[in-house]
Amino acid sequence: MNPPTNTLPAHPLTGPQKALRKLGLERAIDVALHLPLRYEDETRLVKLRDVREGDMAQVEGTVVHSEIKLSGTRQLIVTLDDGMDTCRLRFFTFYPAMQKALTVGNQIRVRGEIKGGYSGLTMMHPAFKPAGGELATTLTPVYPTTAGLPQAYLRKVVDAGLKRADLSETIPEEFIHEIGLKALWSLREALLFLHYPPPDQTLLSLQDRSHPAWQRIKAEELLAQQLSQLQARRERSGLHAPALMPLQASSKDKPLLHERLLASLPFVLTAAQRRVCEEIICDLQQPVPMHRLLQGDVGSGKTVVAALAAAVCMDAGWQCALMAPTEILATQHFAKLVGWLHPLGITVAWLTGSQKTKERHEMLALIASGQAQLVVGTHAIIQDKVQFKNMALAIIDEQHRFGVAQRLALHNKLVPPEDVLPDASGHDAPATFQKPHVLMMTATPIPRTLAMSYYADLNVSTIDELPPGRTPVMTKVIHEARRDEVIDRIRLQLTNGRQIYWVCPLIEESEALDLSNATQTHAMLSDALPGVVVGLLHSRMSAGEKKAVMGLFVSGQMGLLVSTTVIEVGVDVPNASLMVIEHAERFGLSQLHQLRGRVGRGTAASACVLLYSTGDAPRLGQTARERLKAMMESHDGFEIARRDLEIRGPGEFMGARQSGASMLRFADLTEDVTLLEWARGVADKMIERFPDLAEKHVQRWLSNKADFLKA
Ligand code: ADP
Ligand code: MG
Repeated sequence: MNPPTNTLPAHPLTGPQKALRKLGLERAIDVALHLPLRYEDETRLVKLRDVREGDMAQVEGTVVHSEIKLSGTRQLIVTLDDGMDTCRLRFFTFYPAMQKALTVGNQIRVRGEIKGGYSGLTMMHPAFKPAGGELATTLTPVYPTTAGLPQAYLRKVVDAGLKRADLSETIPEEFIHEIGLKALWSLREALLFLHYPPPDQTLLSLQDRSHPAWQRIKAEELLAQQLSQLQARRERSGLHAPALMPLQASSKDKPLLHERLLASLPFVLTAAQRRVCEEIICDLQQPVPMHRLLQGDVGSGKTVVAALAAAVCMDAGWQCALMAPTEILATQHFAKLVGWLHPLGITVAWLTGSQKTKERHEMLALIASGQAQLVVGTHAIIQDKVQFKNMALAIIDEQHRFGVAQRLALHNKLVPPEDVLPDASGHDAPATFQKPHVLMMTATPIPRTLAMSYYADLNVSTIDELPPGRTPVMTKVIHEARRDEVIDRIRLQLTNGRQIYWVCPLIEESEALDLSNATQTHAMLSDALPGVVVGLLHSRMSAGEKKAVMGLFVSGQMGLLVSTTVIEVGVDVPNASLMVIEHAERFGLSQLHQLRGRVGRGTAASACVLLYSTGDAPRLGQTARERLKAMMESHDGFEIARRDLEIRGPGEFMGARQSGASMLRFADLTEDVTLLEWARGVADKMIERFPDLAEKHVQRWLSNKADFLKA
């Protein structure tokens, strides 16, 4: 889509300007806050006899030899002599002007990384200029950049930005004192220092960001994040949502829908499920939009909690929408919810991208008329065509798999209230409802530091116990050479009437390879297990094909299902008791945990086999070993999430938030917990007592990104 013309710049942007914009560097303050990745030391000259391999060195000397080597790779080779020793300079691309500057007899200053080698010291493509110029007085910053934006240009932009930007303090001094840093740096001092550190600085404390100047910057950043989340929370609490009170009083002969649902379930809720239901229902009965995350390990029973919340919504005369990230998952939810609610007289509508036009029109009509009180589906739910009559509760399963924009679109499906007030409602309805209640669900538990930072504006409900009667899944790590033993085990399970998943890895570079891999495995297993129905599921299949395969597996007609990671989330087949994950070393930890959660859902003892391969290497890499070990040692989603955060940082948990440029650039949640706690404490007080400064602080750090933190 083209942007509206009034946002087009008056003059076309030059290449570097475009690149700046791409990096989000638009205002003077943005560039001032664009801090170096590392530094180069151009403040000193060294002698070649003092350098070691791997050093970044700046040397002056005379060109004593220069030749173009034509055999093999064409290159310009220059020998530099500094009076004590010589060094070879190699250039694979070069121009006549360069050759001229490097003529024998010229005095030059070069800077680059020293490499060893049998022919002595070498530098590849060093920077060079005539000898004798002044030396830099500060370390030279190297900035994060992108194609089309040379360091030299960026340095000039930053320099100008630093001069122009308003760097006045936004954090009141009394709060700064609470950080407990020995040296207190102002924002201006910290920025000037980090852009241009004096030469005597130990590069180490700059690089590992333990320096007080870095601490100051990280504190600023974390505070901005906390403030913006707090603002979002306050804004939300000023909005109106329908208070979902039942339309009729419950009575013995006319119980409410959610009571009837509860009574008809084939099991009783766990204490944890009861507790989270109460928390959710309490929110739903407020006239303020709920913004709650329901987290619970795979298999902890979140779906029934969602169904009960939906029933409370329907009891109040409003519609509810449930959105799931994949068609398979949406199908499962639909089947389950229809199974529970249809007998109670509820019409559930169904929307996906792949459905036939005719069916789709029927569904849209049911939704618009309000006849369907519950709508289940994929992203199809948020398309413009979908008009709800009166939607008051949006449930988003596996919320981290959706983008921010998608989540916001669902929030916006609450239609203007004039036409939608439930007819029989005797309540004093507020003049306008601006937002539905939102319940997000996730099986990837959020570690404490993340809950404190990115999710600070969410209320969290946690299901911390599994339904009774589950046997923990036994996890084995087995080398792929022992595949035959695994197949024997599959045979045994099949004879006992059990079902098995075999998961093939996603091969990132190539979907085609991915597919051929799964196809081959499917053929191999079909051969090895004659008479067994072996199914195949991969991402290239049409929704209809996937549905047919899944249908056979769910009904028990298919014994073994070979699949790429499309089964990753939410699939529920209690009779499946064995899962084999091929090339387990290629999966992320939380992904492995999610996959493993597909088994152990029934009462049979279940197992998960992690088949690994070391490829050409003699053994597995460190990270892969740590991951597989964590899988063997723990079944607890929280523990696994904690280890995952340790192994690979917060990206995995954030889903779309990471692309919302809201990721912390400088602070590190595993290292900066103290600063995070400080920021949390200060944010409240600052909004209360210094609202203008708080606003200025958020604008400075997040400008237009704050919206992204709210979804
Ligand atoms: P998840 O939290 O991973 O979404 P599900 O909602 O799919 O888990 O539930 C997993 C299975 O456990 C389902 O078959 C569900 O019907 C069943 N279940 C849910 N709650 C209970 C309970 N309290 N007792 C027994 N089984 C339950
Ligand atoms: Mg689920």
